[in-house]
Parts: sequence; C-alpha cells; structure tokens
Amino acid sequence: MSQVIEKSDRLVQGDEQNEDKVLDTQLRPKTLVEYVGQEQVKANLEIFMEAARQRREPIEHVLLYGPPGLGKTTLAHIIAREMRAPIRITSGPAIERAGDLAAILTNLEPGSILFIDEIHRLNKVIEEVLYPAMEEYALDLVIGKGPSARTLRLDLPHFTLIGATTRYHLLSGPLRNRFGATFRLNFYQPQEMVQIVKRSAKLLGLVLEGGATEAIAHRSRATPRVANRLLKRVRDYVQVKGQGQTTAELATAALDQLAVDPLGLDDLDRQILRVIVEKFKGGPVGLNAVAAALQEEEGTIEEIYEPFLMQLGFLQRTPRGRTVTEAAYQHLGITPPNENQRKLV
Ligand code: ADP
Repeated sequence: MSQVIEKSDRLVQGDEQNEDKVLDTQLRPKTLVEYVGQEQVKANLEIFMEAARQRREPIEHVLLYGPPGLGKTTLAHIIAREMRAPIRITSGPAIERAGDLAAILTNLEPGSILFIDEIHRLNKVIEEVLYPAMEEYALDLVIGKGPSARTLRLDLPHFTLIGATTRYHLLSGPLRNRFGATFRLNFYQPQEMVQIVKRSAKLLGLVLEGGATEAIAHRSRATPRVANRLLKRVRDYVQVKGQGQTTAELATAALDQLAVDPLGLDDLDRQILRVIVEKFKGGPVGLNAVAAALQEEEGTIEEIYEPFLMQLGFLQRTPRGRTVTEAAYQHLGITPPNENQRKLV
C-alpha cells in the first residue's frame, strides 16, 4: 500500500488550509463581475439583492452550499460589499455555547451580514437560539435555573445570515426552511477554470506562456482554490528550475512532481479508487470500509474527495455503497471485470 499522505501535503483538496488564508484574501474577487462562472447563481443573486435594495431592506437569509473551495466565502463577501453591509465572519465549530452566539448577535450593527461557515456543525442547542433570531430578530434568554427559571426576550438588530455548508444533507429541516434563498455552487466548466487561472496568475504577477494556463486549469479539479494553490506551486517551481518563463512544459513538470495527474487527481483520489477495485472488487462497498482500509476519516473522503470523483463519473454512490465505474478502471489502467463477474461479488 502506498504511504499515508499528510493532510498538509494534499494539494488538490478544496478545503482551506493555513497557507490558503493569505492566498484566498489576495486572490478573492471583490465584485460579482469579477466572480467567474456560477452564472445562474449570480443572476438570481443580483435580482435578490436589487429587490432588497429597492425596498431599502436587508436581504433575506441566504444559504450557500457545495464542495469546498468553490467560492462560498467569496460570495458572502461580495454580497456584503454590494449591499454595503458590514460583515462578521464565524463558523459552526467556533460557536461552542449559546452564549457565544448571543454575544455575536447582540453586537451586530443593524443591517449587518453574519456569515457562518460550516453551518452544519452548529450544535442543536445553538440552532434553537438561531431560529427566533432568524425569524423574529429576537433572542430568548433563559434566566435562572429549575422551577424559577424564566425566559427573557431580547430584540436584535435586523441582520442577514449567510450560511455556508459543504454538507447540505446534514442541515436540519427547520434550519434549511428559515433561509429565504438557497444557492448551490457547482464545479466550474473548463473554460471558466482557464479564466480563473488567468486572473489569479495576473494578480500573482506570473506570466503564463503557451498552454501553461490550460495545463494548470485542467488539473485543478474544477475548483478555484485548487487552481490558486497549484499556481503558487508552479510559480515556486519555475522560480527555481526555470529561466523566468512559465511554459506549458514547466507547468506540467511542476504538477507531475506534485503527483497531480492530468485529470487533477492526487494520490488519495487514486487510492480511494484502487482500494475499491482491489479490496472490494469494484464495489458496492460502504464508505466506512473504504475509510478504514485507507486509515482516513469518512468525512474527508465524503466531503472533499468523492464529489469530484463522482463529477468525473469515476465513482457512484448507490444505496448499497460506493461503486467504481468503468471509466475509473480505464484511468487507473486496470481491466474492468465483466458484468457477470461483478454481479457474483
Ligand atoms: P469556499 O468558501 O467555497 O470554500 P472560497 O470562497 O474561500 O471557497 O474560495 C477560495 C478561493 O477561490 C478564493 O479566495 C478565490 O481566490 C477563488 N475563487 C472562488 N470562487 C471564484 C470565482 N468564481 N472566480 C474567481 N476566483 C474564485
């Protein structure tokens, strides 16, 4: 078995790592015009925002969902900017107690945007505090304990909650229903990725020659954050190995050295497919068995790796478990078993 890859070494995954914070801020589009792709989401958002502006009201609560690195946080910042609203950023895991949320809510300026990333990780008690806050702009505080406990209702400033999640299905029904609009972000089209790589390269002061832009775009697993990360690595490689010009050959050599293959898959992607093929005869197999075989967390596989493998048509989620497709066998260079053999498994 190949070695376990350290999380910090994983280049292709879309979730935010420490070094991304600076890069994300540096490269983040500031307006909807600069924000590449997601045309339908942008069109709907424009109307949504314009209608609120005309009514001189804050916009309704918005839920953004989709795989990591596709631009949810960026969109929240853009909405705040376009609505000229102050934005406060937090995340589900950062709000540990109901008191933390109460402190955040009572300190919001009227018309503010509160962005809660990973909103599916809010615990139930905190979610219950959020319901009246979202619906009636009120906070119900419980004072005292036991039979003498009573609730005190506190009025809150009008605010807009923007929630972001990579795992929509983990959100409770009552929470989902309290959002006025829900937008799903999709993986980007190849042409859009080329545009994103061009834009980011320009901001990083990197001149890409020939097919270098396309080489990077193709291996960025349709995810802007991955494109930015690869660009940075290519820049380092060219600085050390090149003569100042970022050619397609150099970009490809840099990406090969990082073990990112022409479709943007990294070692763990390939290991996931291989394990299902080699240990579980191509599936169907439960996620827990795959995770155990790879000594990986189920959440990481499900949230970060599987969406892109499914997008490529390499993996299917069936009620009986995960199945590897023929296209994946081909990519791995393995002959797929014929249908009858698979059925016997
Ligand atoms: P998420 O919150 O979905 O994980 P982010 O909004 O943090 O993703 O996006 C990661 C980075 O990808 C941003 O800093 C930005 O540089 C880039 N990015 C995201 N969406 C776009 C886009 N539509 N156009 C250009 N760059 C984008």
